[in-house]
Parts: sequence; C-alpha cells; structure tokens
Amino acid sequence: MVGAGQAGVQAALSLRHGGFDGAVTVIGDEPELPYQRPPLSKEFLADPGQQPLPLRAERFYDAHDIRLLRGERVVTLDRAAREVHLGSGGRLAFDHLVLALGARNRTLPVPGHDADGVLTLRTLRDAERLRDRLAGATSAVVVGGGFIGLEFASVARARGIPTLLVEAGERTMARAVSPAVSGFLTAGHRRAGVRILLGTTVRRLLARRGRVVGVETDDGRRHPADLVLVAVGAVPNVGLAAGAGLPTADGILVDACLRTPDPRVFAVGDCARYPSPAVGSPVRLESVQNAADHGRCVAETLLRGQPTPYRAVPWFWSDQGELRLQIAGVPTGAERAVLRGDPDAGAFSVFSFVAGRLVAVESVNRPADHLAARRLLADGRPLTPEQAADPSFDLRSHSRSRPEPGPPAVS
Ligand SMILES: Cc1cc2nc3c(=O)[nH]c(=O)nc-3n(C[C@H](O)[C@H](O)[C@H](O)COP(=O)(O)OP(=O)(O)OC[C@H]3O[C@@H](n4cnc5c(N)ncnc54)[C@H](O)[C@@H]3O)c2cc1C
Repeated sequence: MVGAGQAGVQAALSLRHGGFDGAVTVIGDEPELPYQRPPLSKEFLADPGQQPLPLRAERFYDAHDIRLLRGERVVTLDRAAREVHLGSGGRLAFDHLVLALGARNRTLPVPGHDADGVLTLRTLRDAERLRDRLAGATSAVVVGGGFIGLEFASVARARGIPTLLVEAGERTMARAVSPAVSGFLTAGHRRAGVRILLGTTVRRLLARRGRVVGVETDDGRRHPADLVLVAVGAVPNVGLAAGAGLPTADGILVDACLRTPDPRVFAVGDCARYPSPAVGSPVRLESVQNAADHGRCVAETLLRGQPTPYRAVPWFWSDQGELRLQIAGVPTGAERAVLRGDPDAGAFSVFSFVAGRLVAVESVNRPADHLAARRLLADGRPLTPEQAADPSFDLRSHSRSRPEPGPPAVS
C-alpha cells in the first residue's frame, strides 16, 4: 500500500483479518504513526491537551506482521518491473499495489498567500501549527466555506476569536449539501457570531514585515486578521499514477472493482475516481467511510482472487459546534427534497429524491434518521416523499422490515 492513511491501513488490516499470509507493506510519507484526520478540525483544535488519535496502536502493526515504513515517500512506480522506488533510494517489489495517496490542499493563488500566519489544514503538523497560532490569535479569517472551513470557524469562535468566513459561492458547502442544510448551517454559524460573506472572493492577503495582518476582498474592503486559514478544497494526489502511464482525471481512474487498467494496481480513498452505483456516475469522495470501505473492498478482491465490485452507500459526518450533520448518499443533483422534523427546533432531515427514488438523506441532530437512511439506501427499499415528510410514519420500522419479495422470475 502506498499511503498510510485511512484507506491504505484499512486495506492492510483487512488483508490480515481475512487470513492473507503473504508480505504486507504500508509506505507513508508522514513521519507519525498513522492517525485519524477528522479530529484535527474538531476536538484536537478545540482542546490544547488533546493528543492525536492513531488509527491503530504501534504494536498492532508488529502483531499483524504489517511492515510500516514511515516518513518514506514512493517517488516512482515502475509497472513493467513491478517495483516502487523509494525516496531514500531503495526499491520494493510487489505482486499487487494499492495506491492510497489521499489528497492535498488547494492553494490560494493571490498575492500574500505565503505570508506568515496563512495556514492550511490537512496533516497533524498543520493542525499543531494552527492550534499554536489559535492560542495567540486576536482575529481570524477563513477562506472557503466547506466542511473544514466551517468546523474551524466554529472552534475559533467558541474560543472567543472574532472570525470572518469568506466564501466565493452563493452558499456554504454547495458541493456537498442541499440548499436547505446549507442555509440552516450558515444561519447557525452567524448566530454563534461568525461573520460570513457569500459570493465574495479574496483579492489578496495583506502582510506587514512578512506577517499576515488582514485580507482584501474583491469589493475592495479590508478585514483585519492575524490568522488566516485557507480551506478552498483539495486536489487528489495522482502524480505517481500519471507518471506510470495510468489514466487520471481529478482522481486516479478505476473500474467498479477499484482496479486501474493495470490489473495489479488499485486506487482507493480520496485519490480514486470510481463508478458509483449509489450515485450513478463516476465520483471521487473525501470521507472516512469511503476510504475505509475501499480498503476493505480491495482486500476482498485480493483474498478471493476475484474482482469484488464496490457497492457501499456513501456516508459522512461533520461536527460544527452543537450541530452534528450526518449525510447518507450524495444529495447534490436531487430533483425533489422534503423535510422531516423541525429546523426551528434544531433537529431535522432533508430527504432527496431523483425520479421518485430516494438518493440521499442529510440529518441535523437526528441520528436515528441517518441510521434508517443508510439501511434504506443499502437495500434499495422504496420510500415515497410523502412517507418521508410524514412525522407519524415509522421510518425505523420501515427500514428494518424485510424487503417485499419481487415478482417471480420469468424464465
Ligand atoms: C481536517 C480534516 C477533517 C476531516 N473531517 C472528516 C469528517 O468529519 N468526516 C469524514 O468522513 N471525513 C473527514 N475528513 C476526510 C477524511 O479524513 C479523508 O477522506 C480520509 O482520511 C481519506 O483517507 P485516504 O487514506 O484516502 O487519504 P489520507 O488519509 O490523506 O492518506 C494518504 C496518505 O498518503 C500519503 N502519500 C501521498 N503520496 C505518497 C507517496 N508518493 N508516498 C508515500 N506516501 C504518500 C499522504 O501524505 C497521506 O499520509 C477530514 C479530512 C481532514 C483533512
């Protein structure tokens, strides 16, 4: 496995749990024991005493005979020789290779982007730097209203730091959630004291003696800040695959079994673009569930010696202050959305439909709806918009009932 994040480590672990007894090596370029990223924009930032959460304890790798190479970068993939070349000079041979390379943060191509105090958030080191800076910050600007930007804004505000969030789109999290959820979360952050400018871009970052002092937006206004978080999305790490002649297009392109055109090479997690039956088109998703389930799926293929199609229903969560958002399916592109619950009471779900078929459910502080939605989407059990919107309809029992038997097969 190249990449010691959620997907690479899960693939190794699932191979061992499935009884694979060949050599398993996980190569990661970060020096730390592989860790969980989600807390980095949440608990880890909020609490200076919080330690990083490892994916597995150090002894686990030894106990399962998984060779973990940390702080080691794979620089070349030689498919003909079935070898990877390491940054430290060595080579490693493989029968099968899993590319679990993750993604890296997009940069902000404006003057001043490299000033001291302009930070991004992806790795543990980024989070440590950000946490240190938060301790002394007097005003913060977040560029980008996606999940990471909003989670950070909520932590910064809770620590009493005046916080401005600048988002180029007309709503926050537009790529990931429905307009209803976007509007609800934006209003919640505003009530908590985060200033949010929509439809606004940053023209440049202002610095004095190399240190950031503010941002200038496209309307010419200047906003003070001694800490700027740039959270404008991520690009997949595809260079290793592209350099080896494998096809890429905003992700390493794989088939329904997560294989590249080279049957010995797979791609999983944030770096992979795959045809998703749940979405109906090729997607690249950035979530823990996607990465971990990809790892499991590839291990299954290797264990059985037969290609295993990837069919998991995507799900995701985000914690923003008091709000827990959980998403099952992919809500963008829905034709109809209905509401269940009461946004004014701070707990509701949005059920999204395409051609009358349920495709996604976003739940704010309604974990039972989320669990029911995952079961419904996984089984393909029908639910009408009217049932979804009816508070007296027992969603939980419906999601647990046996699917209706279909008509007898005609031979
Ligand atoms: C701050 C933050 C908060 C998040 N919060 C949530 C959340 O609340 N819920 C959720 O579902 N998801 C969340 N995510 C997304 C989730 O963490 C990712 O989708 C998931 O970690 C992806 O796993 P991965 O294994 O594909 O990639 P990664 O975890 O990024 O691992 C890839 C690893 O490969 C390494 N690598 C790349 N190239 C090479 C090379 N050539 N040689 C060796 N190593 C290499 C990278 O440095 C990296 O360590 C969050 C992400 C971040 C950054």
